[in-house]
Amino acid sequence: MPIHEKSLIRPENLIEHKDLFIDGIDVSGHWSTFINSRALTDYDESMQEEIAALPGGENIHRCWQCGSCTNACTVNALNPDFNPRYWIYLIRNGMKQELLLDKDIVWQCVSCNKCTYACPRDVNPEGVMKATAHWLELKGHTEKKPSMIFDEGFSQQIIETGKIEDGLVIRQFFARTGQKLAQNWLVAMAIGLAKRLPVAMGIKMGFAAVFHPRTRGWSRARAAIKDYVHEREAANRKALGLPTGEDGR
Ligand code: SF4
Ligand code: SF4
Repeated sequence: MPIHEKSLIRPENLIEHKDLFIDGIDVSGHWSTFINSRALTDYDESMQEEIAALPGGENIHRCWQCGSCTNACTVNALNPDFNPRYWIYLIRNGMKQELLLDKDIVWQCVSCNKCTYACPRDVNPEGVMKATAHWLELKGHTEKKPSMIFDEGFSQQIIETGKIEDGLVIRQFFARTGQKLAQNWLVAMAIGLAKRLPVAMGIKMGFAAVFHPRTRGWSRARAAIKDYVHEREAANRKALGLPTGEDGR
C-alpha cells in the first residue's frame, strides 16, 4: 500500500526495494515502500487496569483518541515522538511491547497541563503520563528517572519541614542526579535575580538557605502525611501485584 507519512512508521517496519520487478514491471524505487505485516500476540490485558490504579491514571478509559492532548503538548512540539494520545491508545489496547519502545521518553512530561485543559473527556492526560512513568519504574522497565528524583526531593522537604526552600530542592536534585551545581542557566538566573530582588527578600532567602526553617507545630501534620504516603505507596504496589513490604508480603 502507498505510504503517505513514513515518519509515523518505525524504520524497522518498512521494507524498501532498490530493485524490484513484478510481472516484468520495474517497481523499484522510493514509492514502492511496503509496511512489514505483523501479528500481535502479546497483549497485556492488565496494563490499563494497573495504570488506572495509580494516581493520575484513573480516567484513562474515557479517552476517545481525538488527539487534542498531543496537539496541545509542549514536549510534542519539540519532539514528535512524545505522543500522549498514542501511548494512551497502546495502554488501552494492552500493547506493552510497543509502549516499551518509548519507555525512556514518557517521563519527559513537564506537567504544564496544556493537555489537561485541551482534553474534551476529562482524561487528565498529564496524570496518565505521570502514572505511566511510575508504572514503568515500579514494574522495573526503567530506572528511577530525573522527574521522579525531583518529585521525591520536593515532597521529602515539604513532609519534613512544612516549607519549600527552592535553593535546597535544586541543590539536592543536582547532587542526586550527579550534575554540577554551577549550570550556566542557573548562574545567569541567580545573577538576574540578585540584581532585581528587594534586599529584604534576598536576606530572607539567604537565611532560609542556611538555617532551613520549619513550620511551627508541624510534627503532627508530618506524622499524618507520612502515614498517608506509606499507605498510598503500599496500595500502588498492591494494585500492580508487587510486594508491599508489609508482613514480608
Ligand atoms: S502536561 Fe505533559 S503531556 Fe500534557 S501537554 Fe504538558 S508536557 Fe505534554
Ligand atoms: S485529548 Fe483526551 S480524549 Fe483526546 S486523545 Fe487526548 S486524552 Fe484522549
